[in-house]
Amino acid sequence: MLEPSTPVQFVKGIGPRLAEVLDSKGIRTVDDLLHYLPFRYEDRVNPRGVAELRPGEMATVVAEVRNSGLFRTRRMPIFQMTAGQGRARLRCIWFNAAYLQDKFKPGELVALYGKVEQDQRGELQLVQPQFEILGAPAEDGSTDAATDKAAASLEIGRIVPIYESAGQGRLTPRWFRRIIRSALDNLPADLPEPIPSPVRKRLGLIPAREALWKVHWPDAGESLKDLQEARTPAHVRLIFEELFLLELGLELKRRQQKAQTGIAFALHDAVRAAIKKILPFHPTAAQKRVLKEIAGDMEKISPMRRLLQGDVGSGKTIVAFEAAIIAIENGYQVALMAPTEILAQQHYFSARRILENAGYRIVLLTGSLEEDRKREIRRHIAQGNAQLVIGTHALIEQKVEFAKLGLVVVDEQHRFGVLQRFKLMKKTSDERETIGEPDLLVMTATPIPRTLALTLYGDLDISILDELPPGRTPIVTRRVGDEQSDKVWEFVGKQVAAGHQAYVVYPVIEENEETELKAALKMYKELNSKIFPDLKVGLLHGRLDSDLKDTVMRMFQKGELQILVSTTVIEVGVDVPNATVMVIEHAERFGLAQLHQLRGRIGRGAAKSYCILMTGGKVSEDGERRLDAMVRTNDGFQIAELDLELRGPGEFFGTRQAGMPNFQVANLIRDRQLLEAAKREAAAVLAGPNREISQAEIDHALRHMRTRWQRTYGLVEAG
Ligand code: ADP
Ligand code: MG
Repeated sequence: MLEPSTPVQFVKGIGPRLAEVLDSKGIRTVDDLLHYLPFRYEDRVNPRGVAELRPGEMATVVAEVRNSGLFRTRRMPIFQMTAGQGRARLRCIWFNAAYLQDKFKPGELVALYGKVEQDQRGELQLVQPQFEILGAPAEDGSTDAATDKAAASLEIGRIVPIYESAGQGRLTPRWFRRIIRSALDNLPADLPEPIPSPVRKRLGLIPAREALWKVHWPDAGESLKDLQEARTPAHVRLIFEELFLLELGLELKRRQQKAQTGIAFALHDAVRAAIKKILPFHPTAAQKRVLKEIAGDMEKISPMRRLLQGDVGSGKTIVAFEAAIIAIENGYQVALMAPTEILAQQHYFSARRILENAGYRIVLLTGSLEEDRKREIRRHIAQGNAQLVIGTHALIEQKVEFAKLGLVVVDEQHRFGVLQRFKLMKKTSDERETIGEPDLLVMTATPIPRTLALTLYGDLDISILDELPPGRTPIVTRRVGDEQSDKVWEFVGKQVAAGHQAYVVYPVIEENEETELKAALKMYKELNSKIFPDLKVGLLHGRLDSDLKDTVMRMFQKGELQILVSTTVIEVGVDVPNATVMVIEHAERFGLAQLHQLRGRIGRGAAKSYCILMTGGKVSEDGERRLDAMVRTNDGFQIAELDLELRGPGEFFGTRQAGMPNFQVANLIRDRQLLEAAKREAAAVLAGPNREISQAEIDHALRHMRTRWQRTYGLVEAG
């Protein structure tokens, strides 16, 4: 018998070597293997007759190999195979496929899947079909006739699962079919059932064991469309289970956090007056609403856990400062953390500009400071002299001791996922019974579609800044080929002559840092000495030491530089309202979210702003869609939706490293509705026992949730 937790190497036919190959696919246990779902299915119940095929359709055909051979045309070798069903013939061709020689033996049965096309003479053919040879001897060389027959029966006369192969093609779909089949055969009859029965009943979910069987080996009558869309009862059951256990953990976490003792800040008149005093402008209605939500949380004894979402330029910083004043006026310290040093510095400058006149004591603590200076600042923090401490996320990673920390603001700019945040908060919450758990405000500039935000940031309450400060004219975005760069520079020159400033951004991605940095430098030299010899052009990139970065940034901020050539280090948060032009070179290489963030650096003042997307060379289909979207809209939510669609949730939220759960079977876009149902049901279960559900059932579900969190997310903390 195989338990779900058994390592795959003990499954018959796997062993330590193949277990390593599977490990690279994230398959470690029997349970992982069983959740390695087919990415499509072929209907080989009633394979199509060659005569019924229609041009343009995708079809599965099972036929016999008649003959095959390689043709050398002038352009490339073409491999051709003719398959037959009785008298009917079907030609299949593959381009550049000399490797197929000797692959097909006449008389063998072969399953083909591909697009049916018509050749010049009107005859049907399959072009580059995927194929599987059904009549060959078993691949492991076994001569056991019974095994062969059983194996063959997995290939035809049914709906057949097609798996992504692994190990550079070593582990074929066919291999997975047999291995998964044998794992299913050896499962205990009573699989543990993590979803409580009332929930299963309400949603009409089939039992776990049945779901696992049917998702791999669907009944002959199952809808092929539902299978492809992962909407069969078996799929729904497995997807729901995964999401339910995720949401159960999140919901539990949320409850535990709420139950902790935090700090009840007082919001008396002196505090209100202090806030009023620092405001450099009238807050927007959205800013007022959001501050009210935050202040409401801060007054309560349970710790605040709030996410502030607002598009670039919506004015989150001032809201964070207002919250900081509430804490400081109550005698507490505040930590404000930014994702990069430049951003931390910028927050520091604006904090000093806005808060220092009112007498608040502000310090900047970043990694690049001299060791002595750091020690001194740490001492200020530990003694409680420093009231607002600004730094990078290293602030919480290194052990910085606060005398009386009351509020943590994390400016995360979409770099942090839910799991990572749990890890971070754990660090700050050690040994703090005496003061009370600090409040947490997370700010993000990545608009996340609401349903996703609700569930993924399920441990946080959400506030949204959905209004830009007044007096902004929408940014005009244009796309041009780089052969028109003369015109672009002419335009930049005119804007500068009118008293404005410009950014020129050049892509430097880590993988090609050396060569691309050289290109960026060359570009800078050309702009500086040839194109704009009379203007002051600055250069900013990640390799500069931070003093120099600082100086350059400050000069640009003060208007002493008119043009700033930069790599993406200016991507987040930089605020120079007088800059009205942003030229992005090789815009096709940037991601959509990144382009939107970059564009957010302009359009921050009253003057009209222009974003010019220059492209060089061939642009991919996705690249076209990204550029199109940028030209079409300034709306961060629309951009986020498209970005999510183009990149998929994994990339959208950042990798596993960024603390997003890696899903086994769920897909956050496709399965949004199931996600919401899972959240709802998880909350209902945690509301406690009632007529429907017993405490024992709840405990049982929680036990499963903990195992899952530990195993899949590497966290023991839930619960
Ligand atoms: P983000 O949300 O991207 O962090 P910022 O907080 O940097 O945005 O604000 C963008 C710009 O808008 C800043 O120059 C800021 O001073 C200005 N700003 C913010 N709120 C207002 C407001 N209510 N009225 C006028 N200008 C504002
Ligand atoms: Mg900001």
